[in-house]
Amino acid sequence: MTTATPASTDFIREIVAEDLRANKHGGRVATRFPPEPNGYLHIGHAKSICLNFGIALENGGVCHLRFDDTNPTKEEVEYVDSIQADVRWLGFDWGTHRYYASDYFEQLYDYAVQLIRDGKAYVCSLSPQEIREYRGTLTEPGRDSPYRSRSVAENLDLFHRMRAGEFPEGAHVLRAKIDMASPNLNLRDPVLYRILHASHHRTGDTWCIYPTYDYAHPISDAIERITHSICTLEFEAHRPLYDWCLDNLPVPSHPQQIEFARLNISYTLMSKRKLLQLVEQGHVAGWDDPRMPTISGLRRRGYSPEAIRDFCERIGVAKRDNVVELALLEHCLREDLNRTAPRVMAVLHPLRLIIDNYPEYLTEEVESINNPEDPGTGSRRVPFSRVLYIEREDFQEVPPKGYFRLSPGREVRLKDAYYVTCNSVVKDEQTGEVVEVHCTYDPETRGGRSADGRMVKGTLHWVSAAHSLPAEVRLYDHLFLNPDPGAEDTGGDFTEGLNPHSLEVLEGCRVEPSLAGAAAESRCQFLRQGYFCVDRDSSAEKLVFNRTVGLRDTWAKISRAQPKK
Ligand code: ATP
Ligand code: MG
Repeated sequence: MTTATPASTDFIREIVAEDLRANKHGGRVATRFPPEPNGYLHIGHAKSICLNFGIALENGGVCHLRFDDTNPTKEEVEYVDSIQADVRWLGFDWGTHRYYASDYFEQLYDYAVQLIRDGKAYVCSLSPQEIREYRGTLTEPGRDSPYRSRSVAENLDLFHRMRAGEFPEGAHVLRAKIDMASPNLNLRDPVLYRILHASHHRTGDTWCIYPTYDYAHPISDAIERITHSICTLEFEAHRPLYDWCLDNLPVPSHPQQIEFARLNISYTLMSKRKLLQLVEQGHVAGWDDPRMPTISGLRRRGYSPEAIRDFCERIGVAKRDNVVELALLEHCLREDLNRTAPRVMAVLHPLRLIIDNYPEYLTEEVESINNPEDPGTGSRRVPFSRVLYIEREDFQEVPPKGYFRLSPGREVRLKDAYYVTCNSVVKDEQTGEVVEVHCTYDPETRGGRSADGRMVKGTLHWVSAAHSLPAEVRLYDHLFLNPDPGAEDTGGDFTEGLNPHSLEVLEGCRVEPSLAGAAAESRCQFLRQGYFCVDRDSSAEKLVFNRTVGLRDTWAKISRAQPKK
């Protein structure tokens, strides 16, 4: 669970604190996270989740989970389930406060009838195309719909018959009667209800008219007595409509809408529509593909909830849109994994190393520390024997300058085991490729320390050939080549910007035997290689790992180069 004190404050937390001081909502704080169940949550949603649940926690308030399920054609139960799992996994709890906008359909209808009675809403029979034409533009006022002056009685009758299913889609809509000349287009008689002959995942065929988001959202907030309705900047121009709905109806409370900048991350897209397209067109293996910016993708990739929460705290809350460096997210991840991930040895590109003077019958167990950052995690025993695997790139027959790893005549340390010296190699007769490295070991260097103080420059990781386990390792790179794939549509197909090398699968890797039976999602550091986690495809026959992130952190360099804000 997150701590109840934020590391820093921001303009929204200041508003909440001020409202508490002024006793504006009777000392209550109630926020909500209102996803539309039309896709999986992404890291942008995590920002909103951390903000809404965080503010509630810090102030002894509540945060509701509300499904904004007003559009039956795009919504599915699968999404409802995944959203709940993701919010929980991030470490947040809505307690008993799980709601659906569809819970309020009857109340929303009654309120609409009320608006009609008060002369504040009317049934409009222009076609969708005509409604757009009448709406005007930013520079031209709109024109009144010819149906604007329908009598209350006629409106009530038509609205009732809309609900009863007498009309086809598009025949009529219910509109608020506000101001067709308003400089704010959202106030030019916005649509409150439209006819949709579609089954809803919760209300079935009970309804064939559905409220718009702009109408349902403020009222849902008010019914739940939300105090601060926090949303992203694109709703700023909708705020007058939000307030209009609440000012013109006998709702039980009047929440305050506050907007903040949505999160964008370099090399990443945050549009559910585009993410859905990646899934449906098979560019990725699913919503939880480890390359996806979805919560479930990040989770499968090996991200921890702690790292994501830390990231959301560090980026803060601003009023202007910007793009956050992916390197910062990865930095937060490395900081967490450095503290928590046990170190193990794994060889991704195996090369056989044979210790000619090591007895064939012998297996020793060398002691290896699990995590130098966390001594409490102790150590484990790793089997060592005559035939080992080392990383192919840790041997060079003709070492370039500055290469301190293994080469003929050179002595190196095998991590926690012994010093070995390379004497000869065996090559493939056809290709000339080195297939075996022959060494001798110094029995006086057990534990990787020499008795005579002799130093070596290279330390290699290794696994015992006979004891290690086969594994598949999946390496990931940016899903997009362009650092800003979410930039305003240039008209082209955004999938053309996909990185064709975002996934590389390594077969035939070898990992130390302590990883046998490691649970899916468990994380570790493969020494010298990066952080990895066990994929859910992993089995006793074949372990499967995802590379979560490499070891090299680029954030310090990038943040130094960035202009100070
Ligand atoms: P998308 O544009 O990806 O479809 P959305 O805003 O339509 O996202 P919702 O399910 O309506 O998705 O979002 C639920 C909540 O999450 C909203 O309050 C929304 O403002 C917030 N949210 C969505 N995307 C981001 C983002 N990138 N950064 C911060 N908050 C976000
Ligand atoms: Mg939305």
